[in-house]
Amino acid sequence: MKPLPEPLQACLGQRVDLIDTPALVVDLDAMDRNLQRMAEFARKHQIRWRPHAKLHKSAEIALLQQQAGASGVCVQKVSEAEALVAGGVLDVYISNQVIALPKLLRLARLAAQLAPRGGRMALAVDHAEGVQRLAEAMMVAGQGATVDVFIEIDVGQGRCGLPPGPAAVALAEDIARHPMLRFAGLQAYHGRAQHLRSAAERREAIAGAVRAAARTRAALEGAGHTVPLITGAGTGTMVHETASGVYGELQPGSFLFMDADYARNEREAAQPAFEHALFVKTQVISVQGGHAVCDAGHKSHAIDSGLPVVAFLPPERALRYANGGDEHGVLHPEGPEARLPALGRMLWLIPGHCDPTVNLYDHLIGVRGGLTRGVVERIIRVDARGAVG
Ligand code: PLP
Ligand code: MN
Repeated sequence: MKPLPEPLQACLGQRVDLIDTPALVVDLDAMDRNLQRMAEFARKHQIRWRPHAKLHKSAEIALLQQQAGASGVCVQKVSEAEALVAGGVLDVYISNQVIALPKLLRLARLAAQLAPRGGRMALAVDHAEGVQRLAEAMMVAGQGATVDVFIEIDVGQGRCGLPPGPAAVALAEDIARHPMLRFAGLQAYHGRAQHLRSAAERREAIAGAVRAAARTRAALEGAGHTVPLITGAGTGTMVHETASGVYGELQPGSFLFMDADYARNEREAAQPAFEHALFVKTQVISVQGGHAVCDAGHKSHAIDSGLPVVAFLPPERALRYANGGDEHGVLHPEGPEARLPALGRMLWLIPGHCDPTVNLYDHLIGVRGGLTRGVVERIIRVDARGAVG
């Protein structure tokens, strides 16, 4: 892999106030606390967790998650898996459909590469053709390694996945015909439920997902197939999948950084108190009549789940961020005592959606000791930046 150039905005040991903008900054203390909260939750409820690395796309963070007790990581793309394996991650589940033969051959090569090191690859499937192609790729490039295969069922999102129930039986039989494929269980993720605002709506949506997963498991067991694991859940609903007793593994990603969109969810009592750990540092570059302008526009953060929120201001001095285009944010005083920020002032933005925001940067700048007086402790590569294939 080609090395990334070092970031221009910051260097190790530098004070946080000197980080140049716009920059994507991780509050490492907050990230560590989120990681510990997740690990503790999983320990207490005796459930496995396989965090989604589509959030951070970083081998360094994936390894930290595994050290904290994660059973491996999920990714969505073969290219993400390649970047993480190259960085030393040994257990990667592509929780998605892969149909192109060249991609499946790359996956098979990863499985072959990991097997002698005690690692493994896994993939989701929802069609006999997907099973067939995966088996062919493993035959050509798997060098005798095996791959774990999860049957994906649609538990309410209306995206990939077979309808729940007996349709999975024929697919499990297809998988069983190939010695290099191991039927690992069900992929049952309900993406649309994650950001339902009220706790009651999320609880109800996951109750439906749990029934669908249990019904599918019963159909498989009735036909003589053991279902080793049911995996799914995101940050917004994981307490419900956990409480179900049906799911054996959680796949949340966003808990580690927590975006502004998740902060708008009504919190469940049982949910660990995850905090914001990812920020865009931005500078005020212009102050005009009634507004100020900062140097972070939608090339600095994703806006698909709403605009960023200006962090660390008391409500009476709140500033509202409005979209100013690719490279600008327009700041409007909102609280009753809000004043325009001075020219040159540094501000912190909480991105609306962390996953696609991270994908805009080559590096995360990790700060220890808080965002007021801390220093740059680590510069973390976004290894799978732009890896979409
Ligand atoms: N699992 C799958 C299959 C996903 O697609 C996602 C996110 O889109 C997640 C888990 C993690 O969700 P979140 O980042 O909201 O915790
Ligand atoms: Mn997301």
